[in-house]
Formats: sequence, structure tokens, C-alpha cells
Amino acid sequence: MVLPLPTICVLGSLNIDLVYYLPHHPLPGETLTSSHSDVSPGGKGANQAVACAKLSRSRTLDNASTKVVMVGAVGADTHGATLLDSLQSYGVDISEVVQRQGHDEHSTTGTAVVMVDNCTGQNRIILAPGANATLRPERVARLGDLRPSLLVLQLEVPLDTVLQALAAAKSADVPILLNPAPALKLPDAAYDGLSHLILNETEVALLAQVDENELENLVVVEKTATRMLAKGVQNLVITLGAKGAYYMSKDGQKGFVPALRVDVVDTTAAGDTFIGMYSVLVVEASSRNMEFDIRAAVTASTFASAKTVSRKGAQISIPWKDELETE
Ligand code: ATP
Repeated sequence: MVLPLPTICVLGSLNIDLVYYLPHHPLPGETLTSSHSDVSPGGKGANQAVACAKLSRSRTLDNASTKVVMVGAVGADTHGATLLDSLQSYGVDISEVVQRQGHDEHSTTGTAVVMVDNCTGQNRIILAPGANATLRPERVARLGDLRPSLLVLQLEVPLDTVLQALAAAKSADVPILLNPAPALKLPDAAYDGLSHLILNETEVALLAQVDENELENLVVVEKTATRMLAKGVQNLVITLGAKGAYYMSKDGQKGFVPALRVDVVDTTAAGDTFIGMYSVLVVEASSRNMEFDIRAAVTASTFASAKTVSRKGAQISIPWKDELETE
């Protein structure tokens, strides 16, 4: 008997990235000419769905360990069509992505202007949400029918929809992974009962109200992680960019995993790759009735995201499962 694949449901944003590669980030009042530019599919939600899909199947779309369903909204325009084609090409189920009709600002596909510093690979991003802003709490009702093994959420869609999804998943006992990006203050109750909270330095600095510079010190990172975990989170990971990632779990595991040293080309989607690999390992463990090993998951996610930062682009730079297995 062939068992159905466990499902990861990603509820979030879909954006077209307008990427400009620059000698440095623009200073106030400065006009810069990009060395080259690119238009590519992105959005934290879509990128994380693609990461989950690519990291759980081979590039021929075979041997999948998880089904990945994207819940979101795009415009009925060419950007929307590009996003849907891209998701499908990576094996993501797009049946829950609505294509908005109409002529107002919310019926166009969301866009993100991404400025990449050619010297450091660091990016800065401006978002125009477009159709993402129309992802209403009513769409969350579908979660019950989808019965996912993991719900993955970020904060690039309306907050009331995210809060509704959190409440619906908690009451249905669906494990949740929250990536609070971009950083927004959430009510404390939102954290209570989260299975996994993954956030970067900027996000943890804002949410835990610590100075981001102080996160250079691992003692401060550990203290901050302890405070965030106390909000009722089971597993917490703070990603620290080129330094690595710190993890802490309610059952007493904690530690730091250094990043791999690679030639950095573009850090876009580093965090999304990390979350994709981690999510796949969460679901693979639960589908095999195995205990989730947070250190192993953080180590594998570190490895996968090092591959992403060594390549240009967002979704295209995320490795397939078989690319990692051959190394
Ligand atoms: P992004 O928003 O660019 O997708 P993020 O800010 O959410 O990323 P980061 O903390 O920058 O997330 O990176 C996530 C993980 O990716 C890090 O924990 C690390 O393992 C890996 N990584 C990021 N930058 C580098 C780098 N320069 N070299 C090697 N690995 C990196």
C-alpha cells in the first residue's frame, strides 16, 4: 500500500523580485547604476514553499518525501503567471493560490525591490504587497481540509490572517513553524504553543528588544533565546547570517552551529532555504514516528543555505535534495 505523502502547508506571500546588483547600497540622495538586474519569482512564502519542495525531492521531481501546498494570492497578470509557473516547476501544489481579478492596487501581483551589494552579497528589500494584502482570514478555513503535518507562516501577509491561521492550527493540533519576517510585534499569545520559531538577528532584536550589535555575543544570544522560548515555544532557532545559527529547545537542547565558509555570491533566500530544509526534516521525522533532532536539523539547514548563498537569485539558487546528497 502506498501511503499519502505528509503535507507541508505554506501560507504566505508571493512576490516578483526586481533585483538590482549594485557597487554598494544607495546613500541618501544618491543615484546608483546597477551593474546588472534581474526579474525573478520570490516572496518569503513562495520561496519557503519552493525550498520545502526542492529539498524534499530530486530535480526530476521524483522521490518526494513531502507534498508542499502553497496558500496565497497573486494578480491575474504576467507576474502572477510567472510565479505560478515557477512554483509548479519545483513541484509545489498551487491549487490554493488565488488569482485576483480587477484593476485596483490589490489585484496586481506583489513586488519586491531587492538591492544586492556586489561586494558583500548583502541585500536590502522594499515590498509592495499587491494581491498578498487580500489574503483574508477566511482562507484559513481550508487548513482543516488540507490536514498538513506542518504549517509554515511568515508575516508578509495581513497580520489578522496570520493570527487566524495560528489559532486554527493550534486548535486542530497542527504543528506550526513561524518565521516572524519582516519583524512585527505579535501578542505574546501568538508564540504560546508554537512548535518551531525561526528568526534572524534583526527579527529577534526587535521582538526581544535587544540591541542587534549585542547579538555578536553568544551569551546575549543564549539569554535572548531563553526569554523567547519562555513565551511557550518548543524549538527556537536564531539564524546569525555568516556566523551560523543558535538553537534552543524546551527539552533542554541548545548550541551553536557555525556557518560554512563559502564564496558568497548573493544571500537572497538564505533564510528561506534554512527554513525549507528544517521544515522537511520536521515532517520526515514525524512521518517516520522519530524524535525530531534539532541539532541535526540546524546542521543540515546550515549546509543547504550555504549552497544557496554561493549562487545568484532566489528560488533558482535553492538546492534540490539530490544536489546535497551527491556532496
Ligand atoms: P535572507 O533574508 O537573506 O533570506 P535571513 O536574514 O533570514 O536571510 P540569515 O541569518 O542571514 O537569514 O541566514 C540564514 C542562514 O544561512 C545562516 O544561519 C547561515 O547558515 C546561512 N548563511 C547566511 N549567510 C551566509 C554566508 N555569508 N556564508 C555562509 N552561510 C550563510
